[in-house]
Amino acid sequence: MIDDFIQNLKESLAKPKKAIIIPHRNADGDALGSSLALKLFLRQKGHEVHVVSPNDYPSFLKWLPRESEVLKYSRTPKLARDNIRKADLIFTLDFNSLSRIEDLTSIVKNARGDKIMIDHHEDPEDYALFKYSDTSMSSTCEMVYNVINLIDQTQFNIEIASCLYTGIMTDTGSFRYPSTTPKTHKIIAHLIEIGANGAEIHQKIYDSSSFNRLKLLGITLSNLIKIPNCPVVYMTLSQNELKSCGFKKGDTEGFVNYGLTLKDVIFSCIMIQNENEGKIKMSFRSQGDFSVNDFAKTYFSGGGHNNAAGGMSFDNMQDTIERFKKAVNEVSLRLK
Ligand code: 5GP
Ligand code: MN
Repeated sequence: MIDDFIQNLKESLAKPKKAIIIPHRNADGDALGSSLALKLFLRQKGHEVHVVSPNDYPSFLKWLPRESEVLKYSRTPKLARDNIRKADLIFTLDFNSLSRIEDLTSIVKNARGDKIMIDHHEDPEDYALFKYSDTSMSSTCEMVYNVINLIDQTQFNIEIASCLYTGIMTDTGSFRYPSTTPKTHKIIAHLIEIGANGAEIHQKIYDSSSFNRLKLLGITLSNLIKIPNCPVVYMTLSQNELKSCGFKKGDTEGFVNYGLTLKDVIFSCIMIQNENEGKIKMSFRSQGDFSVNDFAKTYFSGGGHNNAAGGMSFDNMQDTIERFKKAVNEVSLRLK
């Protein structure tokens, strides 16, 4: 798969091109890190490149090299749209369904540029001219590393290494999820040799909480409910609770994982009310064989990976909780 992809990509990049790189909406460390790393690489190879993100992302990502050059569609729609329309190549990174870029979906669909997917989620859609899609990969950053490594390793530098280190670290839960392979560690070792500072990156991402965020975590944990006789917990956050802690984008990142720190719990869910968008954003995490990707797809119009997925509900909080409990009851055999 990667051989064909590299061959196609080399042909596409044979002449200087206008390229756009798009991470998914609400970009995380992997989506933004991989997009910025690929941008740096392509620019060093003589192409004109912009990263266009559908919307803003958490401030703990805003130290990433060249982050300030990202065009945000939510802030400058005309500029972002014009650039996408002019592009020869449109890379979509860390997602595989155009619905994940929401407001940009139809702009990208109708754009003349060739679409190129690099992604590690399940069930890829068929919109790309060619794709590198591999669900065994820890992260899209690991995949972008492979791409640069196979096309021109002399281009690696400290900025690219820092971006890639960030995404591999965040998507592997700091190198502990089962997707972390010997190859992942070898790549990380190489990125450190190039100059990525692991301790500093870890601190910038994980130890930069505001006081309010830690208070919000306290509220979330006090809302934690265990479903009786089931290895399942869920947490909720209402708009009022978010407001009371001056909620900022990214503040709830990672909260759902606390459910899995409980002995014998293998499935954790968080439901977060978004009054503006009239929906409840749901995040699912599991340990072992229980697929939250299947669960999210079946019950909450979502998807993701086997052990980390997301979805949404357009019901109110109480009805969403009831629907969640009913769904858990339906899959209870698979949770044993
Ligand atoms: P999170 O819970 O952190 O938002 O997302 C967990 C994983 O599921 C990520 O890999 C993310 O890309 C994916 N994901 C989150 N929300 C959705 C969704 O609504 N649809 C799909 N297909 N994937 C999602
Ligand atoms: Mn990812």
